[in-house]
Amino acid sequence: MKKRKAPLRKCVSCNEMKHKRELLRIVCNKLGEVTIDKTGKKDGRGAYVCYSNACFEKARKTKALNRVFKKQVSEEVYNHLELEIKENER
Ligand SMILES: [Zn+2]
Repeated sequence: MKKRKAPLRKCVSCNEMKHKRELLRIVCNKLGEVTIDKTGKKDGRGAYVCYSNACFEKARKTKALNRVFKKQVSEEVYNHLELEIKENER
């Protein structure tokens, strides 16, 4: 059986490289809409945050997503992220 190498992605908050499934993907599509992408399959520019409250809090405080996407990311997106991460914290 062929083994696929798990792709590594970088958390925007702690800058650690982790396996994709340990991270939550956030995507900015062509229209500039920022959404949470649990399937990892949406089109657009992706950013990743660990499923960790600490990483989330830091990302919110430093507005890490605004930096990555070079746009204003609404509080709603951060709130949605928070819920998602709290439910699935690892
Ligand atoms: Zn992290």
